[in-house]
Amino acid sequence: MYSLVDVHKRYGLRTVALRKLNLDIRPGEFFVLYGPAGAGKSTILNLLAGLTRPTSGDVRRDGASITHLPPERRNAAMAFENYALYSHLTVAENLAFPLRAAGVRPAEIEVRVKSVAGVLGIPHVLDRRPGFLSGGQRQRVALGRAIIRPADIYLLDEPIGHLDAKLRHRMRAELKALAVDMKATIVFTTTSSKEALALGDRIGILNAGRLEQAGTAAELYDRPANTFVASFVGDPPMSFLNVSVRPAEGGPALVTGDGQSIGKAPSGALGRGGLKAGVRSTALTLVDPGTPGALAGQVEVVEHLGHSSIAVVLSGTDHIQVLLPADARLRPGERVGLRVDPTRLHIFADETALATDAA
Ligand code: ADP
Repeated sequence: MYSLVDVHKRYGLRTVALRKLNLDIRPGEFFVLYGPAGAGKSTILNLLAGLTRPTSGDVRRDGASITHLPPERRNAAMAFENYALYSHLTVAENLAFPLRAAGVRPAEIEVRVKSVAGVLGIPHVLDRRPGFLSGGQRQRVALGRAIIRPADIYLLDEPIGHLDAKLRHRMRAELKALAVDMKATIVFTTTSSKEALALGDRIGILNAGRLEQAGTAAELYDRPANTFVASFVGDPPMSFLNVSVRPAEGGPALVTGDGQSIGKAPSGALGRGGLKAGVRSTALTLVDPGTPGALAGQVEVVEHLGHSSIAVVLSGTDHIQVLLPADARLRPGERVGLRVDPTRLHIFADETALATDAA
């Protein structure tokens, strides 16, 4: 297991890339680091590879510090988005390079090069030099060069970011199958939430150098630690209602800006400001306007997705996304009612999730 323990990383005096970060990468897992550009993803890969050191904190392997172990003694294979290939060598020779360096027999090299080229969909360009490849092909060669040799950990920095949507989709599936075959420990970075959810056994969500949460897709979906994570997972994303606590019959209730009650307030919400109730589209039912107990709203936009539609409904000052069957005939401007399942609300105070009271 690889661990970052209280890792703080500064570049120069001003830039803080990672803030007191704690993270475990388990053996054999496909771990995806997700976050916007500048979140600190590459810095984590560089720390694991030994290309940079933490300003404070420790990098460990199976509990022992490797913070000062040089890259050549870490047996990590890396692929960067803009990894330079050897321009004077063919694709086959580029792929063979790490194997030659490791003293693998030529017959075996040939087999491995063919197999990796097949997986990556580039067998027809094996004799070309990198200058004669498209950006997407070059990226696949760089990825191939990283995964062709056995390593203790594979560090893949947005390795399929340059591919067009269709190819990216195919590569995702192949990479996942390959990882299962290799039983390899992989850390993969992406700015695409879809890619993170499709690939990751676990996903670490980074935001401005902080690890907001790490977990399986289901854990992140069911128990998001804060609104940043809650907005990340789920399609359409979770909608947030601004709420406050009001006394009511049967105990304090959560009410929206225009005074509609949506359920009981958890005890942690009492006395707190900045309260939001997160609701997923699957916890909402569209009902007739005026239905007692339902939120009143007006349809603003309907987006047709083919297999379904998403309606954005304005209720008070809150926008709520509702998933609809493709044949739903809603029109902008139409008044609707929304019934919210009170057992499926996520309550946040100052963007951080509050525990729901045990039933
Ligand atoms: P990501 O991979 O998520 O895009 P990075 O780890 O590359 O994020 O960068 C995190 C922060 O550290 C950014 O603000 C970036 O500008 C800064 N940074 C990264 N590498 C360096 C460097 N070598 N020198 C100075 N600042 C850097």
